[in-house]
Amino acid sequence: MTEIRNLLNEDQEKTAAGNFIKDIIENDLASGKHQKIVTRFPPEPNGYLHIGHAKSICLNFGLAKTFGGQCNLRFDDTNPEKEDVEYVDSIQNDVKWLGFDWGGNLFYASSYFQQLYEWAVKMIKEGKAFVCCQTLEEIRRDRGTAKGAGAESPWRNRSVEENLDLFERMKKGEFKEGEYMLRAKIDMAHPNVLLRDPVMYRIKHSEHHNTGNEWCIYPTYDYAHGQSDAIEGITHSICTLEFESHRPLYEWFLEAIGIEKKPRQIEFARLNLTNTVMSKRLLLKLVKEGFVKGWDDPRMPTIAGMRRRGYTPESIRDFAERIGVAKRDSVVSINLLEHCLREDLNKKAPRYMGVIDPLKVVITNYPDGQTEEFEAVNNPEDENSGKRKVPFSKTLYIERDDFMETPPSKFHRLAPGKEVRLRAAYYITCTDVIKDAGGNITEIHCTYDPQTKGGWSADGRKVKGTIHWVSAENSLDVEVRLYEHLFNAEDPMICEEGKTFLDNMNPDSLKTVRNAKAEINIKNLRCGDRFQFERLGYFCIDPDTGGNNIVINRIVTLKDKWAKIQRSEE
Ligand code: ATP
Ligand code: MG
Repeated sequence: MTEIRNLLNEDQEKTAAGNFIKDIIENDLASGKHQKIVTRFPPEPNGYLHIGHAKSICLNFGLAKTFGGQCNLRFDDTNPEKEDVEYVDSIQNDVKWLGFDWGGNLFYASSYFQQLYEWAVKMIKEGKAFVCCQTLEEIRRDRGTAKGAGAESPWRNRSVEENLDLFERMKKGEFKEGEYMLRAKIDMAHPNVLLRDPVMYRIKHSEHHNTGNEWCIYPTYDYAHGQSDAIEGITHSICTLEFESHRPLYEWFLEAIGIEKKPRQIEFARLNLTNTVMSKRLLLKLVKEGFVKGWDDPRMPTIAGMRRRGYTPESIRDFAERIGVAKRDSVVSINLLEHCLREDLNKKAPRYMGVIDPLKVVITNYPDGQTEEFEAVNNPEDENSGKRKVPFSKTLYIERDDFMETPPSKFHRLAPGKEVRLRAAYYITCTDVIKDAGGNITEIHCTYDPQTKGGWSADGRKVKGTIHWVSAENSLDVEVRLYEHLFNAEDPMICEEGKTFLDNMNPDSLKTVRNAKAEINIKNLRCGDRFQFERLGYFCIDPDTGGNNIVINRIVTLKDKWAKIQRSEE
């Protein structure tokens, strides 16, 4: 990370505070360098998208929208072994779900294979590329270091004819993988090691998800990316900081081929988030080795996982906006992401009552067999959300930890002899505690005050606590999945010797509660619907719901660590 920082020049430092990319675009439009901007989001279809990609999507599509330009979705599919149509489909789905639209501008780098090949032939003819027989190990060995020059390949000075012939035969499939490569002929003493005769093409005898068996030579990222940008007329090619040192090479290829309208590569700091990992390689490992249930496991930082968890696209866009775009690497707290989520859900999520750890309550002075309905406000944050009817009866459930037999003095919820409000219903007072032979509390008995209907006392008597409840006769049994962060450590990659990031996984990241109780109105909800269980958090209906089995995900609790930290700093 310090290395990256040292690469920054002062100008970049100065603009780092705002969105320096916006500034660049504004200047380019004002100066007439461009009439219209074109950006792109270029995922490699080798995994599902994650929250880091979401930042890039919001940035690229967002800039296009702000400046009335265009943003292409381009699959950077030059690596056939790891790529798959499953990923191509999921990526499109995720970008749409985030709220962005590429219109007709869906492209594949693999569609440019012919053009890229022709440009490579042109470079060979002009003495700018050569076919090399060195192995990858030899190429690495001879590359030299930042301090010392590399050694030229013994094949560097083949004739143009020989190069053309070999390249043609590479394409025809006459050679084995690794036998030959096409390399750019730049300078083995170049101060930037990436420009020391980099590989442009390698042989791969594997089927490509898009081009099938048409090609057995594949361009490298460095050779393909800038040229793909140029073909699409990209004006601003925005990528993450690790490509900063590749920029001279990006520009070298455009120049060497003789492309006139050159896209400009601009780098920004990738998103790093605490308590999770984001590299697709690591996420794939979690999926393949069964540490999570799949790419869309609600604990995953993937867009698919977050969607299933109950995240809203609005909250993710808001998060991307708040973290901004910088030139310096940093780590963002997952608490900020969850804060954005809570803010959005607070406005939108209707309230219901649910009890995750039920304790039975019998209202001894309430008539047997009677039920009545109370009106409860759907969402105090939304005037138009209206009210709903909640059934009340003699037997109820409350949250087990809302009752204490011998409470400390600051405990304002239910305890023997104490009175509390049942949200929107009545005041109740605990009279008896019933236990089993083992001394465990099995139910409690209470009396209610009929004068407190709706949860307000006519005599102005106040109670300190309000608790949630559901009617035992008129409620639903539900399965609730409680999620915590996937990793306990803020940086899961820091581990003791001999251990890996897997050892930092949180063993309690999923807790399944099978006997939870929910207000009857929940039955009208559909898969994906989000709501608040009062006092507990935000939840949503999971797609595993079916038949009589209702499965509910906890999206996030109500406790906002981010807001608390902000307040304490003020
Ligand atoms: P990973 O490191 O997770 O495997 P990647 O960079 O290999 O990701 P790509 O599919 O190549 O994945 O990424 C597509 C685009 O998303 C690129 O422009 C990349 O710079 C951007 N991107 C990837 N990860 C992040 C991140 N954490 N923050 C911001 N942008 C990102
Ligand atoms: Mg990549």
